[in-house]
Amino acid sequence: MRYYDHLIFDYSKSGRCGYTLPKAAAPEVSTAVPEGLRRASAPALPEVSEVDVVRHYTNLSQMNFGVDTGFYPLGSCTMKYNPKINEEVAALPAFAAIHPLQPVETVQGVQAVYAGMEQMLSAITGMAYFTFNPCAGAHGELTGLMIMRAWHRSRGDMGRTKVIVPDSAHGTNPASAAVCGLDVVVVKSNADGLVDVEDLKPLLGPDLAGIMMTNPNTLGLFERDIKQIAALVHEAGGLLYYDGANMNPLIGKVRPGDMGFDIMHLNLHKSFSTPHGGGGPGSGPVGVAAFLKDCLPYPHTEGQQDNETTGSSAGCTQRVDLLTCGPFDPQKTAGRVSAHMGNFGVILRAYAWLLTIGRQHVREVGPIATLNANYIKELLRDAYKLPIPSVCKHEFVFDGLINDGAREGKEGATTLDVAKRLLDFGFHAPTIYFPLLFHQALMIEPTETESKETLDAFIDVMHRIAAEAAEDPDILHAAPHACPISRPDDTTAAKHPVINWADLQAE
Ligand SMILES: *Cc1c(COP(=O)(O)O)cnc(C)c1O
Repeated sequence: MRYYDHLIFDYSKSGRCGYTLPKAAAPEVSTAVPEGLRRASAPALPEVSEVDVVRHYTNLSQMNFGVDTGFYPLGSCTMKYNPKINEEVAALPAFAAIHPLQPVETVQGVQAVYAGMEQMLSAITGMAYFTFNPCAGAHGELTGLMIMRAWHRSRGDMGRTKVIVPDSAHGTNPASAAVCGLDVVVVKSNADGLVDVEDLKPLLGPDLAGIMMTNPNTLGLFERDIKQIAALVHEAGGLLYYDGANMNPLIGKVRPGDMGFDIMHLNLHKSFSTPHGGGGPGSGPVGVAAFLKDCLPYPHTEGQQDNETTGSSAGCTQRVDLLTCGPFDPQKTAGRVSAHMGNFGVILRAYAWLLTIGRQHVREVGPIATLNANYIKELLRDAYKLPIPSVCKHEFVFDGLINDGAREGKEGATTLDVAKRLLDFGFHAPTIYFPLLFHQALMIEPTETESKETLDAFIDVMHRIAAEAAEDPDILHAAPHACPISRPDDTTAAKHPVINWADLQAE
């Protein structure tokens, strides 16, 4: 049996014991527990030595794949390395041991982090204020749309219920609009993959709440007409929402605020180096233009810094006096979107990253991420179909293998097969079958944290897999060959994971 087939209970030997303690000098007080609450028999704990425990759990931990174990080019997810100094800062007791209901005078350092972070993100995005309450990107979208709706309502403009979303948008955009109770209308892309301004015009009217976009768009193309789109939407009384989940290539280069956007979210757990995956804590702060300040959700820190001076580094280090949760106007605020002030530990890690990397080097993040993506794209286009051949941003899409090995009596290798085979070589699979525009999509995003050597190793393996496919696609159909489990049913694995002993016993 392999170690991963074992449970810690399998190692149990009656009477084996990791530790013994000397008999207590104090008298036993078991009578302090009322009779009815006492156990009839001892709990069925495994009886194991310390080394059994350490080996078992260390081995299990190595069944996980993460950015700390290997290259993770999961497109659209920005799986960049999470620097360990972020973890050290987040673990400082002054941050880790606080309580959200503690008197505000005792958490001035925390307030200074929120203030400094608001200032840095405002400088990066061209927004005036940020709320840190949303706990994920999609949560940020919902919050942003609630702000949009709150603004229209605060002006007595109750009929604005329509949100325009391009056909290339990330699936969360229309989903968030629907959850917010708004009606989604799709605007078409033109032949160049950009929002079709002529198709947009007839959609603008007194029922328009706003438009949700991202630029560069989901295909990595820059919406050249963004200024005109912004003017048209504003003229019609609508607002512009920017999906900033994929801000990585733009940081320090382009600001959504300058393009005319009024509201946006960021994914700190993508572009700002905090860990993510598996549904763990995230952070989707939402930035707004100055005129939307009263529509922000509460609580919101107040009096932190002069937002007119975004871009000065002073706010990151200056003492911030007695910040309280600012007053809010119930007629204007979008309301409450989470308990307290969001996932502070995540915000703190992103703050540590920004301070570590600094104003100067943060400008290099986007260009290096972009260079890395283009490097892989150019060196693999001889083996994989490249539907959009132009220079890409931080990620790009292949549409399956050029030679998938299909022939008489043999089915060709698919994108799923390539993804599974990569696991045998110690690489995480790219994003597959997204975007939906292509049938065999493989979306690759290397990020800026990977060395040329790592990229070259990945490129070699991708070529080797292409050669295997051409020769005998069955090698790929049966992959992965070297992983603990091969091909679980995706839906069952996600919806009904068997993760505890009792369930395993019941199987
Ligand atoms: C990841 C992503 C989101 C959603 O972010 P979550 O934190 O997963 O909710 C939204 N839009 C785009 C473009 C994304 O890539």
